[in-house]
Amino acid sequence: MLLRARCVYPMVGLPIEDGYVRIIDGHIVDVGLWSECGDRNEYQDLGDVLLMPGLINAHCHLEYTNLVGAIPPPESFTEWIQAIIEKKAGIDDSSFRQSWLEGARQALDYGTTTMGNVDTRCDLLSSLWAATPLRIISFIESILFENDREVPEFVGKLKTWLSENKPANGKIGVSPHAPYTTKPGFLQECGAMLNVPISMHIAESSEENQMFRDGGGDMWEMFCESGRDVSDCGGRSPLAGAIEAGLLDKQMLLVHGNYLDSRDIAAIAKSKTNVVHCPRSHDYFRHRAFPAHEMKYSGVNLCLGTDSLVTMRDPESKLELFSEMRLFRDNNPGWSSRNIIEMVTINPAKALGMEGEIGCLNTGAKADLIGLPFDTTINSVEEMIIEHRGSVELVMVEGQSFNEVSRASGI
Ligand SMILES: [Zn+2]
Repeated sequence: MLLRARCVYPMVGLPIEDGYVRIIDGHIVDVGLWSECGDRNEYQDLGDVLLMPGLINAHCHLEYTNLVGAIPPPESFTEWIQAIIEKKAGIDDSSFRQSWLEGARQALDYGTTTMGNVDTRCDLLSSLWAATPLRIISFIESILFENDREVPEFVGKLKTWLSENKPANGKIGVSPHAPYTTKPGFLQECGAMLNVPISMHIAESSEENQMFRDGGGDMWEMFCESGRDVSDCGGRSPLAGAIEAGLLDKQMLLVHGNYLDSRDIAAIAKSKTNVVHCPRSHDYFRHRAFPAHEMKYSGVNLCLGTDSLVTMRDPESKLELFSEMRLFRDNNPGWSSRNIIEMVTINPAKALGMEGEIGCLNTGAKADLIGLPFDTTINSVEEMIIEHRGSVELVMVEGQSFNEVSRASGI
């Protein structure tokens, strides 16, 4: 397959005006200037289109897609936890499935081709993976904080499941939910499983920060009442448990990190741990400013994610990354457009252990690419990408175009 477009933005080099991408067996074999393209026997001229790598959403919860607008921005994070537990209790299997697949459809429609997703329903996952062309990295969520004696049995079952299941075009990982919903013993077991990617919410809210640093506050009280042993709280960072368990590693995606301090950030940078920032979710909770510049200048690999649609202020929000890029740009003046686009392409590819395979249009990469309308009113290609609104014109995962299929059938 040979595609010609007004502009090709491969991310591994500069934009190519009047460029081409050649694809064989789902992989990119050649990218360059149309004037230098050999063998033009059969080709598709896409016209005024900007071709670029499919976007990578490093953190999402597809299952909450249909809960968009269901929980107004709360007064506190603890209040929100209680609200989401109530909402989840009313979701049956059919609604769960519909919501998960609607999220996958929206993601593809808006140019995301790979999703780092937190998954809670192992019993439904195989059929969900099979029902979408979206490339999924499924992080199996684990919540375990009441009884240490349950850890060996729980971990044994999890390891067995991980060894027997895998999405056809993606990967499987583990998500110990958060420091407050897990225990040291379980985190240590996760550390021992470091041959799989790990995703964990850490230092998301001021209440979590207070629970671990001060040994008090609303969240601390809530978990005391629920029977959690809180001897790991007080006088330490929310990151401490993950450090002690040996979780900080290049395979680890630390999600949020809004309340990390300079020592935490130095430990993250040294261990090459990846950080995922979710700008719209951050805005929904009105967290303190995300320490983006400090992380960047410490050398942290920063990625963007959406989190779920239930933490969006606008009930019309879609599961897409262009709005995340724009909000990040608005909150971080001086950040280059190129660096912002890297946070949804090259950086998450590295975080997910797929550097050079996705997130770039490189020889040998998987042919995951999208086409945006070429907007002649914007001079910079990078700004054109960040300013894009609405669905995209072309979506391809591993050489297969899915626009018409996904829009017509609702998968
Ligand atoms: Zn999340």
